[in-house]
Amino acid sequence: MDHFLYKNGQLMAEDVAISDIAAAVGTPFYVYSAATLTRHYRLFSEALDPLPHNVCFAIKSLSNLAVLKLLGDLGAGMDVVSGGEYMRAKAAGVPGERIVFSGVGKTRDEMRLALTGGVRQFNVESEPELLALSAVASDMGAVAPITLRVNPDVDAKTHEKIATGKKENKFGIPLSKARAVYALAASLPGLQVVGIDVHIGSQLTDLAPFEAAFEKIAELTEQLRADGHTISRLDLGGGLGIPYTRSNEAPPLPLDYGALIKRTLGHLGCEIEIEPGRLISGNSGLLVSEVIYVKEGEDRTFLIVDAAMNDLVRPSMYGAHHDIVPVIEAAAGAAAQDYDVVGPVCETGDTFAKARALPQLGAGELLAFRSAGAYGAVMASEYNTRPLVPEVLVQGDHFAVIRARPTFDEILKRDSIPAWL
Ligand SMILES: *Cc1c(COP(=O)(O)O)cnc(C)c1O
Repeated sequence: MDHFLYKNGQLMAEDVAISDIAAAVGTPFYVYSAATLTRHYRLFSEALDPLPHNVCFAIKSLSNLAVLKLLGDLGAGMDVVSGGEYMRAKAAGVPGERIVFSGVGKTRDEMRLALTGGVRQFNVESEPELLALSAVASDMGAVAPITLRVNPDVDAKTHEKIATGKKENKFGIPLSKARAVYALAASLPGLQVVGIDVHIGSQLTDLAPFEAAFEKIAELTEQLRADGHTISRLDLGGGLGIPYTRSNEAPPLPLDYGALIKRTLGHLGCEIEIEPGRLISGNSGLLVSEVIYVKEGEDRTFLIVDAAMNDLVRPSMYGAHHDIVPVIEAAAGAAAQDYDVVGPVCETGDTFAKARALPQLGAGELLAFRSAGAYGAVMASEYNTRPLVPEVLVQGDHFAVIRARPTFDEILKRDSIPAWL
């Protein structure tokens, strides 16, 4: 459920008309609903009650400081995968003890940054990383709380680019090596083992792979405890999928996911951490764009819009589907037409949808890509020197620009021409 509904024929973000935002900000832009973000965060938190838990929002899905502040103020922790994301979490006012540091290639600088500013734990993904963290922490006279990310070798049955829990993926430590690497961790200075971490992929639309992974984690918890390790925290990663089409997809709900966690892991007395990104941010955002031209091809009609693959890369990168809706609601029974919806970038890959049935649209009319809150703005670039798309946050009947569109001047000023040219 989200808060982007039609009222009197106008697509709204909560109580604000999208066309009013477009008039004030210009297109294209991202718009997020505070009520939807809040609702999704609370669904997760309530689904884990009464287990002791921490919902750490995966910043990489949507990293605007205003969004992080909103979620942080609700009590959310943050899952970061880079020094930059760590700085964002801190800048949004999230205390270090609620920040979890994930990622397969943490650098020593990033380790120092987090140890200085405070961190809940590092999710360590390899033996070399373990050795590096031990050295960095010892050097600083610090103790780094850690989990080891294990790779349970389960098939997440999702897009190959976002499956992370198979043994051929670069992530985590194979289960078969886990006990040996935990023994190594316990023997090293500057480290404190607190638990286990697992994340098997993104956009999972079935609970079965989670269940398979969690059962393996339960078994590993008992084994590691028998080996003498303190396992008091289980970080179960993110990955719960969202419906990208209104019609035929019904991914599991946070409530069912929570019930599964309680059933498979609840008896262990551990604190549960989860790292949802997409399910909190995905359906909390739209990308709004204006039709520039309607171009008649030989056998199709192109809707050329002012958003492009650099603003929302998912269709071009993953072949992802985004529902597209007109901002002014079509009259009941109005004629529909098939369009290829494309952006202005000089690549054929700059295609949002092929043969998509939409109400008839003309130049100057607005449309919205739904479910664009996650992996949208954060993956945007300035390819073709198209200014980074601005972001807007709506709460009730008011909105604010939370990242302005850069001017051409600002863009050009980032480059410098050497004196010797
Ligand atoms: C990407 C990622 C997440 C978030 O995944 P979603 O599918 O957006 O929920 C959580 N944890 C880790 C380690 C990740 O890499």
